[in-house]
Amino acid sequence: MTQAHIIKGKDIAADLREALKSEVASTDAAPGLAVILVGDDPASHVYVRNKIKACANVGIESFEARMPEKALQAEVAAEIQAFNDNPNIHGILLQLPVPDHLDSDALIQMIDPAKDVDGLGYINIGKLVAADDSGLVPCTPQGSMMLIKSVEQDLSGKHAVVIGRSLLFGKPMAQLLLAENCTVTTAHSRTQNLEEICRSADILVAAVGRPKMVKGDWIKPGAIVIDVGINRQDDGKLCGDVDYAEAIDVAGAITPVPGGVGPMTIACLLKNTIKAAQS
Ligand code: NAP
Repeated sequence: MTQAHIIKGKDIAADLREALKSEVASTDAAPGLAVILVGDDPASHVYVRNKIKACANVGIESFEARMPEKALQAEVAAEIQAFNDNPNIHGILLQLPVPDHLDSDALIQMIDPAKDVDGLGYINIGKLVAADDSGLVPCTPQGSMMLIKSVEQDLSGKHAVVIGRSLLFGKPMAQLLLAENCTVTTAHSRTQNLEEICRSADILVAAVGRPKMVKGDWIKPGAIVIDVGINRQDDGKLCGDVDYAEAIDVAGAITPVPGGVGPMTIACLLKNTIKAAQS
């Protein structure tokens, strides 16, 4: 039995970061990224540390605003406004999730659309839907599309199934696939016949948050499988939403977890920051 081509997101992200480093080196002023971190969530602290390290590696200047767990909405809003007004800052990222008492959506919508490097503000979402290239595209779907394109350039007419409809991932991913002329099905928790729908996918993207939910017999032989899920198992190891051991014998190409989609997210954050600095 032939095994699937493994899409090595880690290597593709490293190549992208090298290209971005050269791009930054050829410009006069360093792009600046501000990260706002509210509260004590340990995972968020790790993510922010990794983002700041990645910025330094490509020559992006980073600014960090750490705010206490009890920070008020008005205090976080004031921080965003200060970054909006600072010409040395080209990208602003509010690390999610924020503590429950804060209205994250209102805060995200406050970010200047030109600096909204997470691409979650309504202006950038609107540009994505309108296929207007001037917008900033959310990082994880953007990176996932690069991984798909690393396998196949022409996606026209392919049936793409995205499991998950979050604003962070599923919805923008579906739009990117549509822009590539795929026929797109978005599945979610109320979808009926999910397995059957998945089996008809030439491109299957899983972003659910349920460990190994997608089994080998849900996959069309030869399909491109992108596993966005990051789940911590009882033994402490990470796994995706796809049962990788089963899928690898059926899919044509598949992303591993870890080392697949994850590294592309940070690389695309850097890419968006450089794009924001150039516009
Ligand atoms: P989310 O907001 O929780 O959305 C999950 C989606 O899955 C929802 O649309 C939900 O449907 C759907 N769903 C839940 N159970 C289902 C089921 N049994 N069958 C079909 N659909 C089901 O999560 P998210 O933010 O999109 O993230 C999804 C996963 O990707 C998580 O594991 C997250 O950690 C990971 N992630 C990874 C990266 C990365 O950098 N690699 C970035 C972002 C997210 P309803 O809408 O009907 O509830």
